[in-house]
Amino acid sequence: MAKCLWLCGRIADSDEDVVPEWLRKHLGVKGTPPGRKYAIKNINVPGLEPEVLKRERPRNAFHVKAYKAVCQPCNNKWMSGLQAGAMDLLKPMIDGAKATLTPSERGAIGAWAAMTGITLEHAHRVTVDPSRRQYMKTHRSPPPHTLVYLTHLAPVELDCIVGNSRADTKQDHRTVMYHELFTARELGLLIFQGVFGPRQIAQLSKYGNYLVPVWPVITLTTAYWPPTKTLTIEEHVIVAYNIITA
Ligand SMILES: [Zn+2]
Repeated sequence: MAKCLWLCGRIADSDEDVVPEWLRKHLGVKGTPPGRKYAIKNINVPGLEPEVLKRERPRNAFHVKAYKAVCQPCNNKWMSGLQAGAMDLLKPMIDGAKATLTPSERGAIGAWAAMTGITLEHAHRVTVDPSRRQYMKTHRSPPPHTLVYLTHLAPVELDCIVGNSRADTKQDHRTVMYHELFTARELGLLIFQGVFGPRQIAQLSKYGNYLVPVWPVITLTTAYWPPTKTLTIEEHVIVAYNIITA
């Protein structure tokens, strides 16, 4: 029997919806047909792996599940606590309302995003570094070197897409960076787990007008959403790709 992905030692007897139920309800999704619908799969990073970006046409991704991923105590206690902490902040932004995020609100969204990112990797059969999972569970906060950004999406026909990619070293196939993206109507999230190099930081600043920094909260500043510029879903994917492959 598989153990809970958060390394609590218990049996993983619970499935986790990557797109949580509150969000499906909010988006008006009914029923839960079986199967997994991923928007974007395994974006490989040139320079680190000799493979090219494999981009799939974005599709709605309501029913992405991490099967037998977590235990019920984790799911029902701290994970649902993080869900509850982010839900009321995210809902108006999903509908396009302006938002002012205090440092603690940025923390709540960052924690939700990091938890969701790790769960999304698991749904793709990728278990992120044990130290990251352990940190998340212990501190209920994003592990070190987690970056979370919000984007604003142009009116979309797809209510929700999710996707992930990784950068592995060529020599020993060690993962140096995980990347997840998540969108719900007008709100987009970009999640990076790993250490950015100077080229990636430079690329990131090029996109300053498109991104609202959520995590880490380095100075205790308020963040304002939406950013000045808006992206299509395809551009949202490309921005993340350009950053990770810089
Ligand atoms: Zn657990």
